[in-house]
Amino acid sequence: MKSFSQNSENGKKVFIQTYGCQMNEYDTDKMFEVLRHENYFHTDSHEDADLIILNTCSIREKAEHKVYSELGRLRDLKTANPELKIGIGGCVAQQEGEAILRRDSNVDFVFGTDNLFELPRMLRKIYKGEKISNIQRYDRKRVRNFIPEYTFQKIQHSRIRSHLTITKGCNNYCSFCIVPNTRGLEVSREPDQIIAEAERLVSTGTREICLLGQNVNSYIANGVDFVELLHLLDKLEGLQRLRFTSPHPKDFNEKLADAIVSLPTLCEHLHLPLQSGSDRILRRMRRWYTMETYFQKISMLRERIPEFSLSTDIIVGFPGETDEEFEMTIEGIRKIRFDLIYSFKYSPRPGTKAADYPGHLSESVKSERLKILLETQEKIVSERFQALVGTEQEVLIEGTHHRKKNTVTGRTRGNHPVSIKNSTKKAGDLMIVLITKANKNSLEGVPSSVIQSLGTKSLA
Ligand code: SF4
Repeated sequence: MKSFSQNSENGKKVFIQTYGCQMNEYDTDKMFEVLRHENYFHTDSHEDADLIILNTCSIREKAEHKVYSELGRLRDLKTANPELKIGIGGCVAQQEGEAILRRDSNVDFVFGTDNLFELPRMLRKIYKGEKISNIQRYDRKRVRNFIPEYTFQKIQHSRIRSHLTITKGCNNYCSFCIVPNTRGLEVSREPDQIIAEAERLVSTGTREICLLGQNVNSYIANGVDFVELLHLLDKLEGLQRLRFTSPHPKDFNEKLADAIVSLPTLCEHLHLPLQSGSDRILRRMRRWYTMETYFQKISMLRERIPEFSLSTDIIVGFPGETDEEFEMTIEGIRKIRFDLIYSFKYSPRPGTKAADYPGHLSESVKSERLKILLETQEKIVSERFQALVGTEQEVLIEGTHHRKKNTVTGRTRGNHPVSIKNSTKKAGDLMIVLITKANKNSLEGVPSSVIQSLGTKSLA
């Protein structure tokens, strides 16, 4: 929603670099909205900016290192323009706080994941020459409208596909994960406020909403649970598609599987993090499900819709993971046949339980396991994509292809990216596409000549 790039004559220019997850992307949109009310305008260039914010991620060591190397690059800009202000937000800021100010004198302010709506007050202080570290946590009520309404009431144009945060924080304390420390305990927004934001997004151009939360399916507020919230959102006029990420397998149940089948807007795609195929490793990860119960949840979906599309997260090389336990993960993904896997080498995060576990594996073992997993998955994806050739799919158009003429791009309900030749459709249109080719990570198609009703539950 960078909707305020037009008139920058009288305002200051802000550049925000976002790292990490979709929750951070959503927070960046909110920062832009907050700053728009302070007469800041978006710029795509570091060099042009009066204010640079790095919205950081600390989920993996690599993401954290990226922030510090980016700060190194910004040093020259600050030397050339001493008026430039630099702020650090997000999870690294929440964790490190004042230490960042001590480590790099070019940073003017640091703010935590609960403090982005205090940007105006912080900016007034830094323009008076103060250095600020603001990582205060607020009263942790189970239900709280942590997004101020002014940040969505005046949105002018939204994206075709928008995110909408419904919960933040997490109570699960998986042994490898830093999120409960950086985002705090779980809080749900009230349903009325979520619906008001969704209505605003739809009225300004959004056709697909993806609900966000660290453990999205444990949402509960004012007696409304996650499935009831989906039912409420499904009724929104003009909303064509609804997705959510990430649900926790332990909270995935028949009621949610039924909702996915029965609600027309809910897409037939689910991202359900598995993490490991070994029950012993899952216990040490504090995930609270076994492979058997995970398979049962997948069966709930595939019994209802055989071609259901699935993606997942896998961590390889968790402390103490044996060759046999890694092989169980490979067996698991061969059996389930995911459409997409986000796979990571385990990296210890200070402050988490697993960082102190014995049996940390060498980088070479972790790299070798990641390579095997990627090769296995590549073959499965190729077969899954190939099986879609010759089928007809409903595609939501997102825009024109950046290189190919007369070609538009979009996504199927199963979340597969598709490019479509010879189409005059515009962003936001739905169309039925005949899939003609499968590439490594995407599909190609042509407009289908078959008239078919849109928004059905048939994946064809
Ligand atoms: S469920 Fe586990 S992995 Fe996900 S955010 Fe919570 S603690 Fe982290």
